[in-house]
Amino acid sequence: MTLLFAVLGRVARSTVRVETDLMEPDMWLFVTHEINQTLRREGLELPPPGRKPPGWHHWRRLRDDHLSTDEGIATLQRLHLPRAVALAREVGLLDPNGPSSLTHPSHLRAIYGDGTIVRPMYRPPKKAEVSADDGTKVTKFVHPVTGELVDDPGRRYDADVALHHGHAGPALGHGYVAWHTRAPGPYGRVMLHMGHIDHPGGEAGAAVDLLRDIYREAGAGVQVVIYDGAFRGVHIDQVMRRYGWLTISKQPTYSNDELATASIVRGPDGRRVPSIPLGIATHTVGGTECHHTLAAINGAVAQIDLDDTGDPVIVATPARTSVKRARSGGGTYRFNLGYRIHCPLGDFDTWLNPHAKTEGDPRPEALRAFPEGDADTLRLRGLRSDAESVHSHYKRTLIVDRAMSLGWRRGLIDYYLFALYNNALAEEAWRAAQRRENNVRVLRRTPG
Ligand SMILES: [Zn+2]
Repeated sequence: MTLLFAVLGRVARSTVRVETDLMEPDMWLFVTHEINQTLRREGLELPPPGRKPPGWHHWRRLRDDHLSTDEGIATLQRLHLPRAVALAREVGLLDPNGPSSLTHPSHLRAIYGDGTIVRPMYRPPKKAEVSADDGTKVTKFVHPVTGELVDDPGRRYDADVALHHGHAGPALGHGYVAWHTRAPGPYGRVMLHMGHIDHPGGEAGAAVDLLRDIYREAGAGVQVVIYDGAFRGVHIDQVMRRYGWLTISKQPTYSNDELATASIVRGPDGRRVPSIPLGIATHTVGGTECHHTLAAINGAVAQIDLDDTGDPVIVATPARTSVKRARSGGGTYRFNLGYRIHCPLGDFDTWLNPHAKTEGDPRPEALRAFPEGDADTLRLRGLRSDAESVHSHYKRTLIVDRAMSLGWRRGLIDYYLFALYNNALAEEAWRAAQRRENNVRVLRRTPG
């Protein structure tokens, strides 16, 4: 009930308002009834709710003394994820026996995520580093009025914010990553798992770590993971190997340095693009071996040949035929991607391994099961924009776009409150749709 109080506070953006609403005798009677139902349904041996609704001070106690500790957050995450996966399954998502394949994954077996920065509640004080008498560096605060260096900023501020560098430039605040899955239709989103980005630049690593928990809970129910360009080759390879999932993520924009060291080919349109060699595909025609040079360009496979001036050119872009996945004794997964190679002497199939062979191998980034422009990529990648909607919806429950509480732990709890609200809507939307269907069935059976 105390969590529910906080969820309503998040939605109404005022806990005073929630306190007042819950005091309404009819409202409290209704909530009491719902709580009793829940206690029965869950088989919880707990006393029934009292005659008085909870207030802000109850929530603050629970949050500050219990939830906003490492242990409290771990408990919240551990309790939330299995319920969220169960809800996802109920609404037809993440079904391990669902009708789709690794070659053409279904949107019902996709999860998608994004990172965001929430600005701190208070503008951070200006700081300066000074050398103490013994030569050590000491951080002092700049007094906002006099400009003097002082030991105490003289007001509340968030000590654990960090400067994150996102697409929109540097932002000071708390970074969070969230993973979701989504049924078609309004309110179809189920928020699965959320976490804190503990250092600038740590977004993708935090996102991959959260996937470990989702893997434990949803496992084979997931086939594909959709993220933005923050996923580089190392993350894509980890997701494939550890969890056996494929990734859809934007190709990075290569820096001039990266382009300078890459070999360049001319595309069919004459544009010069970086290419990463994938080796030679060989087949035997009439007793003679015939060789085809393959390279990865923009995530896709290309057949390369030399033109009459000796420059490499793309002669064909083989289509992906199928995706194979095997599991090793050690529990890690290995993928093989099938491609149809074009040859005037007869087309043939070849298999390519998308994993890194050595550390820093560009292959997982260069060779994508779902490159940009691929039909499956185009069909699925739109889901990811919903992850951005989550952040903007969440931030609308904040006041003036700033965190509503101090410190990343309380901020993450606020985010979880939003997730509870979101998932309650998803559950209710599903139940309402079931009721409607049921009514239609009853009406059809009723004569006249
Ligand atoms: Zn050939």
